[in-house]
Amino acid sequence: MRVIPVTDGVDSSDAFVLGDVAAKDVRVRFCPSPTGNPHVGLVRSALYNWAFARHFGGTFVFRIEDTDAERDTEESYEALLATLRWLGLDWDEGPEAGGEYGPYRQSERREIYADVATKLREAGKAYRCYCSAAELEERRDAARAAGKPSGYDGKCRDLTDEQVAAYEAEGREAVLRMRTPDETVTFTDLVRGEISVDEHNLFDYVLVRANGHPLYTLVNPVDDALMGITHVLRGEDLLSSTPRQLVLHEALRELGIASGPIPRFGHLPLVTGEGGKKLSKRAPESSLQLYLDRGFLREGLLNYLALLGWSIGEDQEVFSIDEMAEAFDITRVNAAAARFDLKKAEAINGIWVRNLDVNDLSERMVPILQESGLLAHPPTPESVELLRAATPLVQERMGVLDESVGMLAFLFVDDDAFTLDEGDVAKVLKPDAKPVLEAAQSALEALDEWTTETIEEALRVALVDGLELKPRLAFGPVRVAVTGRRVSPPLFESLELLGREKTLARIEAALPRTEASTQT
Ligand code: GLU
Ligand code: ZN
Repeated sequence: MRVIPVTDGVDSSDAFVLGDVAAKDVRVRFCPSPTGNPHVGLVRSALYNWAFARHFGGTFVFRIEDTDAERDTEESYEALLATLRWLGLDWDEGPEAGGEYGPYRQSERREIYADVATKLREAGKAYRCYCSAAELEERRDAARAAGKPSGYDGKCRDLTDEQVAAYEAEGREAVLRMRTPDETVTFTDLVRGEISVDEHNLFDYVLVRANGHPLYTLVNPVDDALMGITHVLRGEDLLSSTPRQLVLHEALRELGIASGPIPRFGHLPLVTGEGGKKLSKRAPESSLQLYLDRGFLREGLLNYLALLGWSIGEDQEVFSIDEMAEAFDITRVNAAAARFDLKKAEAINGIWVRNLDVNDLSERMVPILQESGLLAHPPTPESVELLRAATPLVQERMGVLDESVGMLAFLFVDDDAFTLDEGDVAKVLKPDAKPVLEAAQSALEALDEWTTETIEEALRVALVDGLELKPRLAFGPVRVAVTGRRVSPPLFESLELLGREKTLARIEAALPRTEASTQT
């Protein structure tokens, strides 16, 4: 395959991207197979297609490629719908939305494919191939040994009626193969520029199995054609199938099965993981669920996924998907592989966390805290109230929402489930912490009013002034006693939220720990 990359020579204007298609007539599709969990590469494709459609005011089609009954599951199908919905990538046509090009599940379109296959065969665009797997393999090996291309050799391209009859009489089964042209196929990839595949690398490929089962090679371009898809934006891993698909598109138009322009293609860069290797669909870090469980915000996750191959401007990394849609230019997508960088994803997400309205953030933390057992299903009104009050204490301190679990546990655990971090106990609740806790105890007991300000004042007077301790040494023991950890949200605010009774009970309970550590 020869590739001439997109360079400055390529016109990046909308006119170039649109060709003969009017902006409002743009139709793109997101067409996952419902196998396994949605993964990040898939969602990136969905996002780019969505942004492309919204940019032009066109149509975003959602199609389900569920022709592989062995691997497709209803669960995965539901997960795909739920994911897109949660992310806010609304589709204009597809499952539940309907549309005039339905059905949008390929499992419901078998007759269409059978019909197209018949027409292709009758017109000579495709032919029956009777070669057995063993025969194909043998010839492939021989070709390889002779240093020749090892794709299908065209043996059954032009069988005579007698040969066909003989094969049939033998009881041989036949697949349906597409007849590819004996000429070079060239197209302009919207991301990569001109791409050519010469005839020696374009082999007649199987469209329908011997058992009548239509393959991706048939159903994907057929649906793109019949659904009037104008632009196909998809992962680079599918680039090698594009020349073959173009051949089929051409045939469908020649036969009047489809009308409208052949779609233009743009292949999105590979997403790589650590070490520059392709991020496999099944790698744990590519599972979208992981990011949802950890409490990525949809805004943060989408923003990060958008950056896997595109950016809105030189120095701007943070943007919403609406801003993306406004500015999206497929020709400015980077052809080079994009590395998935978890740290960066968390940092971007953290910016969105800090930008959220407190009430909104607090609501979004509920499921995470429920999952960790800190909140009930449904949460009590008091705990919702408490969470709202505690949210500002953690908002500045987290990249993803599940970091709040450790920080807020002390406020939400049942009293009998409250425990101290043993490592922090060993470091902080040493014998010299005992007088500190005692002084804190009496200072706090004496308070009339329990507010952040009065608590801070009382502890400063008692510990920093009274015991002449540096603030870190003064407040460390109180922090560990009350929150269970050396690292917590701001101390005085935390004590206010926890309340006088619990605070004092925890200090009391921690006192013996300073003695226990004497003996070790
Ligand atoms: N169902 C195919 C996949 O998930 C779609 C590929 C395409 O976008 O053409 O890989
Ligand atoms: Zn054959």
